[in-house]
Amino acid sequence: DRLIAASADREDELIEASIRPQRLAEYLGQEAVREQMSIYIEAARRRAGALDHVLIFGPPGLGKTTMAHVIANELGVNLRSTSGPVLERAGDLAALLTNLQPRDVLFVDEIHRLSPVVEEVLYPALEDFQIDIMIGEGPAARSIKLDLPPFTLIGATTRAGLLTAPLRDRFGIVQRLEFYSPAELTLIVQRAARIIGVVCDAEGAGEIARRSRGTPRIANRLLRRVRDFAEIRADGNVTPAVARDALKMLDVDAEGFDALDRRLLGTIIEYFDGGPVGVESLAAALSEERGTLEDVIEPYLIQQGFLIRTARGRMVTNRTWRHLGLTPPRRAQV
Ligand code: ADP
Repeated sequence: DRLIAASADREDELIEASIRPQRLAEYLGQEAVREQMSIYIEAARRRAGALDHVLIFGPPGLGKTTMAHVIANELGVNLRSTSGPVLERAGDLAALLTNLQPRDVLFVDEIHRLSPVVEEVLYPALEDFQIDIMIGEGPAARSIKLDLPPFTLIGATTRAGLLTAPLRDRFGIVQRLEFYSPAELTLIVQRAARIIGVVCDAEGAGEIARRSRGTPRIANRLLRRVRDFAEIRADGNVTPAVARDALKMLDVDAEGFDALDRRLLGTIIEYFDGGPVGVESLAAALSEERGTLEDVIEPYLIQQGFLIRTARGRMVTNRTWRHLGLTPPRRAQV
């Protein structure tokens, strides 16, 4: 429920379909990924074959689902969408695979959460476009091979390390999405503003972009909240002053940190002298799950240089002390 959560809430899901870029040219940022994908897509089109399987990894909200849709659109094929936890039984996957048209894209979100039995079905499907399915039960049971049309699997995951090695090896194309720069996010905010019909100048968009933790989903969500504020407290236009006031009221600070981020950083300083502190102790002090800490809160703090992971645990940096209005201690600092 954090305003700056990178995962999608219900409102995000409803609105995202309408503001999602459809083509590579509308997909802003991620230059390297875009350039490579445009070549692979063009090559597949010329061969009139299926694109190689693609694994996209990166933190939530950076555009993995969007990229999957863009790839299918550029290939001119259908996209079927599912997710690791939804595919409970081998039959669920078999039903999807046998309904694909040649060259279609099957998008599996959270692919690291596939059950082992489903993963077993997937291997021959990916390698030979074949599946083995069991017919009947008991002694009469037999397995039959079914041919599948050539298709492209696009898997998305937050961390490539979560995938089993055999699954990872079956992706010919592996793309890693990076956090977006404020300049890229400014363009993303301006584009979304045009689509949802809000007047938002480049500086206003920039104020939102700088606090969006490098993440388009957060940028688009903050834009909607700032728009509400602009409509009630101002003339409806998102100017820099309106954006700043709105984000201040929403308790998103100049670095895009919210109360939870500041609590994590403040706890390391206050209770652990700036660190190092083991992740378990830190999680206990914050009453948060270790996984939440590692996947949700820490990545952006680390990427921004406010938190360091060392072999002995987490440490804050001089920037952290200063950001919280404190004077860094006079000792050997990192
Ligand atoms: P993920 O699947 O990685 O969690 P999504 O693909 O659902 O993220 O992206 C969330 C939202 O952010 C999308 O609805 C889209 O509006 C926006 N978005 C993501 N990437 C881009 C991009 N490169 N350019 C413009 N908007 C983007």
